[in-house]
Amino acid sequence: MTRIYHLSYPKENSEQPVICQLVKHYDVEFNILKAEILPQRDGYLVLKLKGLKENIRAAIDYLKSLGVRVERIAGRVHRDEKKCFQCGACTGICPVGALYIEQTSMQVGFDPEKCTACGLCVTGCPVRAMEVSFDPATEEHEATA
Ligand code: SF4
Ligand code: SF4
Repeated sequence: MTRIYHLSYPKENSEQPVICQLVKHYDVEFNILKAEILPQRDGYLVLKLKGLKENIRAAIDYLKSLGVRVERIAGRVHRDEKKCFQCGACTGICPVGALYIEQTSMQVGFDPEKCTACGLCVTGCPVRAMEVSFDPATEEHEATA
């Protein structure tokens, strides 16, 4: 399976090569989609993991054991339904098809499983209905692997 996670690093771990250990010990492929990690500062990664479900779960448990906060990226992307007026502009912006026109209802659907949190829809939406949060201090979501 493939999963996209937001990892929040405490500054104590910001210089450790923990992601390389995922390949070595848990046989998962990774792709870093976004990162902000500086020495001796809290940081974050948006990471795509691909592998067997049990291996990804074990890899996530390993990250958590190191003090890395892990959450599915779906918890970081939000559409404000009160603002969204279903114009459809974002469906042409999203590079991975996470925003799409539902064929039966003709409403704009959002699939958080596909979303990579690139943020393009945030600036592309005329009423700023899409929100992507990367602030590690603001939320306390738990991972669901
Ligand atoms: S661009 Fe904004 S208002 Fe238009 S459908 Fe997308 S989220 Fe809704
Ligand atoms: S953040 Fe990027 S991937 Fe996610 S819905 Fe918006 S445009 Fe698509």
